[in-house]
Amino acid sequence: MTQNRTFFVGGNFKMNGSKASIKAIIDNLNSADLPSNVEVVLAPPAPYLSLAVENVKAKTISIAAQNAFDKASGAYTGEISVESLKDLNVPWVILGHSERRTIFKETDQFIASKTKFALDSGVKVILCIGETLEEKKAGTTLDVCKRQLKAVSDVVSDWSNIVIAYEPVWAIGTGLAATAEDAQDIQHQIREYLKTTIGADQANAVRILYGGSANGKNVSQFKDKADVDGFLVGGASLKPEFVDIIKSRQ
Ligand code: PGA
Repeated sequence: MTQNRTFFVGGNFKMNGSKASIKAIIDNLNSADLPSNVEVVLAPPAPYLSLAVENVKAKTISIAAQNAFDKASGAYTGEISVESLKDLNVPWVILGHSERRTIFKETDQFIASKTKFALDSGVKVILCIGETLEEKKAGTTLDVCKRQLKAVSDVVSDWSNIVIAYEPVWAIGTGLAATAEDAQDIQHQIREYLKTTIGADQANAVRILYGGSANGKNVSQFKDKADVDGFLVGGASLKPEFVDIIKSRQ
């Protein structure tokens, strides 16, 4: 059965940029002739969320935070509330990024709790999963992805506002992207696994992105891969080639 999953390209700026550089990236996207059938989501650092919301023109582009907490408000110094995101017209949040998992020691359960809280509050989630190099070498890639997904499916039953980003940790920021064949293979197995936990309909509808050194040159290799529904892009989202990635399915 052919699936009608809207192609999705996310730009994760991480802790990079200034008022001027983020405005320049958005101006570049505003003046590009972007395809109307690609959903684009930009995730600037939290201090620049408002600036991004105010400067984006195309209806196909929306904004994401790079993190949010699982409480609405209170004495949680330094944390980001999904209520603030809604107040700022930020409809998305990235959760479970490997940099949050490794550097900030976020557990599968914490990420699942934050995912549930965001969804229940009406904020959509880009849920990142993926194995480290050691896990890949040990042959446990799929087990790791399943474990990370199960933590979420244990507490979330409606996945219609989740986009999954499969991001092998060894590919992030290294210039060593997974091959399109390997990404397709893993992402297909992820979808098959999801059929057993969230049901075939939801598993067929959920978009699964590839992330990890995706760039303007290599994304064309993923073009005919049925389970690669887009990309989550770090470094290249800060560069003009981001437009080429958005246009890569045309
Ligand atoms: P990268 O980052 O494209 O710079 O490898 C991807 C990500 O961390 O989402």
